[in-house]
Amino acid sequence: MPNYSTFERLQMKVLDKAVGLVMAPPVQRAVYDQFTMTVVGTADLAPNVRRITFRAEEFADHDHTGADEYFGLLMPRPGASEVTMPSEDRINVRQAIRRMPEDRRPDLRWYTIRRLRRAEKEIDVDFVLHGDAGPGSRWASRAEPGQTVGFRAGNATYLPTRPGPRLLAADETALPALSAILEAHQDADLDIHAYVEVPDDSYRLPIDCDRQVTWLVRGDAAPGTRLLPAVADLDTTDWGYAWLCGESAIATGLRRHLVRERGVDRRRVMFSGYWKVGSARE
Ligand SMILES: Cc1cc2nc3c(=O)[nH]c(=O)nc-3n(C[C@H](O)[C@H](O)[C@H](O)COP(=O)(O)OP(=O)(O)OC[C@H]3O[C@@H](n4cnc5c(N)ncnc54)[C@H](O)[C@@H]3O)c2cc1C
Repeated sequence: MPNYSTFERLQMKVLDKAVGLVMAPPVQRAVYDQFTMTVVGTADLAPNVRRITFRAEEFADHDHTGADEYFGLLMPRPGASEVTMPSEDRINVRQAIRRMPEDRRPDLRWYTIRRLRRAEKEIDVDFVLHGDAGPGSRWASRAEPGQTVGFRAGNATYLPTRPGPRLLAADETALPALSAILEAHQDADLDIHAYVEVPDDSYRLPIDCDRQVTWLVRGDAAPGTRLLPAVADLDTTDWGYAWLCGESAIATGLRRHLVRERGVDRRRVMFSGYWKVGSARE
């Protein structure tokens, strides 16, 4: 068991409580495992989406907190051949990284476990490539079997607790999470409304589930251009749960609409800005 400080545990408890007041809270794990994993395969799913398969012994008994579980990808800094993992045990991995010597600090970005295969000790991760502007996309576009990076366990955010129709809305970066959620509910008798906005049709990746998904193509327009009006046009107001993830304007814009204009209880709405136009997502 890691030796998290009492102060940090308390800090996280207070933070969790505060989060629970303003939104549907995510799942919380007790221990944030951290280990290295090796690239064992890559596949281009679309011109700008690359699936990378990682293997690590620890995946054999990974405590998976839910379908849309995310994790911290720790990458070697440019110029470094290997990743240095934070040695300090902290719940807040960003703080642990900040306390490392600058020349050894790994780059950290957040991704979704698209699939966990415990028997093979593998995970698949679908990376949206958007050029070399950030370390995540830059690393993923060049990744090759044999390379080693760091895995820092995260949490699932999809945790509906009340009855009623469920709204899932995502962009291309949250499509892996939305797909995993739908696949987990394949046989469940639930009223799920799924909306995905993508830059073009090539991002429409298959989902192994019979449920209907409404696909919206935004072209060169800003994220949310198609998704926000589509959700605003829906008549439903009694959402039991809403899960809204993607570019920041999508997540916050949809949440604002549901809570302020449709009167949905904010504690039924989980929203997360996965990335933000013009800003790095550390
Ligand atoms: C919980 C969670 C789960 C996520 N899961 C996934 C996942 O499974 N797959 C995935 O691809 N992403 C996922 N993301 C989003 C990913 O973390 C961000 O896109 C992140 O910004 C990528 O880091 P980067 O180093 O490439 O770019 P950054 O250094 O963060 O940003 C550099 C520049 O690139 C821009 N940028 C960042 N992302 C994009 C993008 N997608 N398209 C266009 N411009 C962009 C930024 O606006 C900025 O100007 C997830 C994020 C979170 C919080």
